[in-house]
Amino acid sequence: METFEIKAFGTDSKTEALKELTIKRRVTTPKDVEIDILFCGVCHSDLHTARNDWGGSAYPVVPGHEIVGRVTKVGSEVSKFKVGDIAAIGCIVDSCQECASCKQDLEQYCIPGFTGTYNAKDKHLGGRTFGGYSEKIVVEEHFVLKVPENLDLAATAPLLCAGITTWSPLKHWNVTKDSKVAVVGLGGLGHMAIKLAKGLGAEVTLFSRSPEKEKDAKELGANEVIISTDSAQMKKVAGKFDLIIDTVPYVHDVNEYIPTLNINGTIVLVGYLGPLDPMLNTVPMIMGRKSVAGSVIGGIAETQELLDFCGEHNIVSDIEVIKMQDINEAYERMLKSDVRYRFVIDMASLKN
Ligand code: NAP
Ligand code: ZN
Repeated sequence: METFEIKAFGTDSKTEALKELTIKRRVTTPKDVEIDILFCGVCHSDLHTARNDWGGSAYPVVPGHEIVGRVTKVGSEVSKFKVGDIAAIGCIVDSCQECASCKQDLEQYCIPGFTGTYNAKDKHLGGRTFGGYSEKIVVEEHFVLKVPENLDLAATAPLLCAGITTWSPLKHWNVTKDSKVAVVGLGGLGHMAIKLAKGLGAEVTLFSRSPEKEKDAKELGANEVIISTDSAQMKKVAGKFDLIIDTVPYVHDVNEYIPTLNINGTIVLVGYLGPLDPMLNTVPMIMGRKSVAGSVIGGIAETQELLDFCGEHNIVSDIEVIKMQDINEAYERMLKSDVRYRFVIDMASLKN
């Protein structure tokens, strides 16, 4: 297959800093769209993958799955995009498109497995896929999204992962203006969950370990902030929530949140991936028909629905724009929860 070389930023091992690398992209095939990347958001999953927190990272890792850019080339069969259009790519660049999940627009649950934007097996070139910390990306049209014209492009990038990952459970669990929603952790996913739940009209509460984030949380749309380490505050919201979206990236005690669910309520884990410690106590679940669930990103149609909703409601991420060369420092700040509330890389910095 024909390829071309571009600049990217990535790492050769879990202990090394990210640095400039050269990678290959395929030359557009008839179904492909080639995009010049303008902005790429920085997700905690980028850090987990670069540092092999989940196992399974194959190096070099070039992260980035919150991509907004300009179309520079389209294949002969492409009909939705033309050269010059603004387009976006999220966490999925391929799936079988034939299984029961794909047929229901649930590519994120593709039965043979979806192809992630980075560190997934690349069906075209072999090796692994490389993400948005790069000059260009080539993706099949089906997986390319349209960006509403009224939204700021840099602040739109985080909708492609932080946005859809919180939107999908809000929609699946039917959040409306009558719902009481709580969000655990005010980072990239958490701040989008607050804005989107608010956008749907729900009453929103933030659970945080960080009292200094209270003012921001209220400005983002939270009605109330509960400091999760204060047991008196936790007792105050017993039995309150229809849905809790838990975005905490590391192992933590989920049992603390279950009593704050209403009867039939659900806590959806979207952050931490792995065995829980301590184990779950079933008593409050059984005694209140409460559920503990998980959810991964969202399908392509649902991501477009989210982008359109954000266009209508003027919702974007609160961002700090950084240069590509600042990425290692940004990761250290993310580990200290020092992000207000998403880093976005201005990819012009890689091209200069
Ligand atoms: P982030 O910006 O770093 O935010 C995480 C927030 O969680 C922090 O701001 C902090 O909020 C809280 N937190 C951090 N460490 C904690 C700890 N040890 N105990 C309790 N709270 C802690 O991360 P993100 O980009 O939002 O990503 C969050 C997680 O979601 C990551 O693990 C990421 O890999 C995962 N993710 C999952 C999906 C999916 O499809 N399921 C998609 C994208 C990302 P406070 O300061 O308010 O406590
Ligand atoms: Zn992500």
